[in-house]
Amino acid sequence: MDLSKYRITQAKGNHLKDHETDDAAGLRKGKEADALLAANIERLRERQEVLFAHNKYGVLLILQAMDAAGKDGAIKHVMSGLNPQGVQVKSFKVPTADETDHDYLWRAQAHLPARGNIAIFNRSYYEDVVVVRLHNLLGAQNMPAELSDGDVWDDRHRQIRDYERYLVENGILVVKIFLHLSAEEQRERLLKRIHDPAKHWKFSAGDVEERQHWDKYQDIYEETIRSTATEYAPWYIVPADRKWFARLLVSEIVADTLERLPLSYPELDDKQNAVLEECRRILEEESEPS
Ligand code: AMP
Ligand code: MG
Repeated sequence: MDLSKYRITQAKGNHLKDHETDDAAGLRKGKEADALLAANIERLRERQEVLFAHNKYGVLLILQAMDAAGKDGAIKHVMSGLNPQGVQVKSFKVPTADETDHDYLWRAQAHLPARGNIAIFNRSYYEDVVVVRLHNLLGAQNMPAELSDGDVWDDRHRQIRDYERYLVENGILVVKIFLHLSAEEQRERLLKRIHDPAKHWKFSAGDVEERQHWDKYQDIYEETIRSTATEYAPWYIVPADRKWFARLLVSEIVADTLERLPLSYPELDDKQNAVLEECRRILEEESEPS
């Protein structure tokens, strides 16, 4: 699959409106797409094992989207190919009192991936330049008023670029995915959550409220993506109106990311090889149990 169409590494020329929400790269739902997803899950499985054994790089996968865009489903599918030992999922909610007593990057820090591991962020510090900006929550979140003027969002975008550069320069890869949903598809999915009793638990009246700010959210997301898309920490705009395609594309992005890393199984030095040889001798010379 050609990912360049979805990958954003700079502000120039990148507008959300130019990205279709129902694009499926010419694929159709069904056997062919299922086989591609299964193949990607297998690619993921293989590469994660080497990532873990190599134990030098970590991978941070960030998922951002409007409500009901399919973040949970995408995470579930990617996870199905991964060894749970080497992957952690963290969902970022409305900050607690303890969290608003700190700077906004503080709460992410404890959940960064260790070397050899993958961390998946279901929402992230990007909420601090999206929902916080839209609802003007800086004061409520204890930011000093004199540091909350008009430049604060540009400042935060720069801080995020710097933070992600720091991570990448220390071997923690950063990949950011925006699930790009249409307002109409969101409406249908929210209605489904109301109609289907098994989905009631997923429904939140707040989602309908947030939906009233749809255009403003799109504008803020567009500006955020443009300002924080870099060569070292790209954004991917994933068309999300078709769940099956979004999941396939997310699996492709993660597999592609892992395959670009210079990973290898660690090689033993002479001393370690000698130990291995000695252990082999001891085990082979043990008498078989009678
Ligand atoms: P959900 O992902 O559906 O469980 O919802 C989590 C909610 O927490 C969403 O409405 C987010 O916008 C909100 N949230 C996450 N991070 C922040 C933040 N830093 N400030 C305010 N709200 C946040
Ligand atoms: Mg929700």
